[in-house]
Amino acid sequence: MTTLAVLGAGAKAVAVAAKASVLRDMGIDTPDIIAVERIGVGANWQASGGWTDGVHRLGTSPEKDVGFPYRSSLVPRRNAELDERMTRYSWQSFLIATASFAEWIDRGRPAPTHGRWGQYLRWVADQVGLNIVQGEVDELAVAGDRWAVHTHDTTVYAEALMITGPGQAERSLLPGNPRVLSIAQFWDRAAAHDRITAERVAVIGGGETAASILDELFHHRVSTITVITPQVTLFTRGESFFENSLFSDPTDWAALTLEERRDAIARTDRGVFSASVQEALLADDRIHHLRGRVAHAVPRDGQIRLTLSSNRGSENLETVHGFDLVIDASGADPMWFTSLFSQDALDLLELGLGGPLTADSVQEAIGYDLSVIDVTPKLFLPNLAGLNQGPGFPNLSCLGLLSDRVLGAELRASTPADKPAISRNDEQQPLR
Ligand SMILES: Cc1cc2nc3c(=O)[nH]c(=O)nc-3n(C[C@H](O)[C@H](O)[C@H](O)COP(=O)(O)OP(=O)(O)OC[C@H]3O[C@@H](n4cnc5c(N)ncnc54)[C@H](O)[C@@H]3O)c2cc1C
Repeated sequence: MTTLAVLGAGAKAVAVAAKASVLRDMGIDTPDIIAVERIGVGANWQASGGWTDGVHRLGTSPEKDVGFPYRSSLVPRRNAELDERMTRYSWQSFLIATASFAEWIDRGRPAPTHGRWGQYLRWVADQVGLNIVQGEVDELAVAGDRWAVHTHDTTVYAEALMITGPGQAERSLLPGNPRVLSIAQFWDRAAAHDRITAERVAVIGGGETAASILDELFHHRVSTITVITPQVTLFTRGESFFENSLFSDPTDWAALTLEERRDAIARTDRGVFSASVQEALLADDRIHHLRGRVAHAVPRDGQIRLTLSSNRGSENLETVHGFDLVIDASGADPMWFTSLFSQDALDLLELGLGGPLTADSVQEAIGYDLSVIDVTPKLFLPNLAGLNQGPGFPNLSCLGLLSDRVLGAELRASTPADKPAISRNDEQQPLR
């Protein structure tokens, strides 16, 4: 038996589990998938995960579902059958199963709310019998030639590990200060219908997280909203066929230079708002943009003073601005999981990387199968695969392709049955 453990039962775990289940039904050998999840399937798409209140809408189209783009290349001569079987877990199949397909069509195929998208993920997980170990992962260690994924109660041993999700939403510039809200604190207040009243509000960060927060903030009593990002202006994401196809089909991505790839990601992904967000929100005259990175935050005279630094030519300019409320929506830290690694696991990674573990060194070492090259047991990091493999892998843009790459990877020979994949921590553990 070969096991692939997945940290988090979100969109990626569900997509990989769905494809693995279909492959198994077709009689094809495939690893067992075990997701270790702290809350529940699709938790980050509802209020409990801290990233949304569940009522805001998905930015990408829901047809970019767990099988998209339905162009498998995993099983010679049977890929069409694989894609056809995957359509049973499509967004449309979910709507049909929940008697809402006709209504969705008649309403003009609206973007679903985050909460509804979470329901879709849970439906797929149920259909394919996703194996979930409940618990918060608190350590990632190496045990012999397997990963040991530890929670308080349980350890999952696996020949390969995939890490998903943006980490925790509780990060705040000034923890404990009521004038500075983390993403989770903001959504907690919104979900409790706690109306925010403030004159000057700052939202730090661009991207989908900040977009959802802006969308919500307009319904509260705020006089001005200043969006703070390092870019010269608030860019609109390019959404033409050519830009979108980079996300769905990264075939030509590897042929671009590193500089061209960074440029494409900056224009289409990082810190940019979708055209619909620009149109709906940024037309509101309460909104302004300030360029800079937040260098310091201090409470003074009933306000939060933010020092922003920005590069103007060769000069570094610092400016200070006061706000009544600051929302730290700077969002996901792509390296959030590194604090979970045991010293052995860190040594293993640094050996594979040939140097210190940094966001740049990891991104540049992600191979075709979305794992870190030269690291065994395999470590799949799709959220850091954008630069090397294609900008769609960290998000929802090509979950079907992501599953092909991960399940098509060469995994180490299977482990004998006397070494179980799941053990309770109160049982004797020969491997730790
Ligand atoms: C508000 C918002 C809106 C977004 N909208 C879009 C969009 O429209 N289109 C798009 O392509 N992308 C969007 N994104 C990006 C989105 O995060 C990714 O596309 C996608 O969810 C990533 O899937 P995933 O499986 O990596 O993670 P997730 O679906 O986020 O799942 C991660 C899971 O890990 C669990 N978890 C976290 N820490 C632990 C731990 N220590 N132990 C155990 N479990 C843990 C969480 O509870 C969660 O269930 C959005 C992100 C946000 C925050």
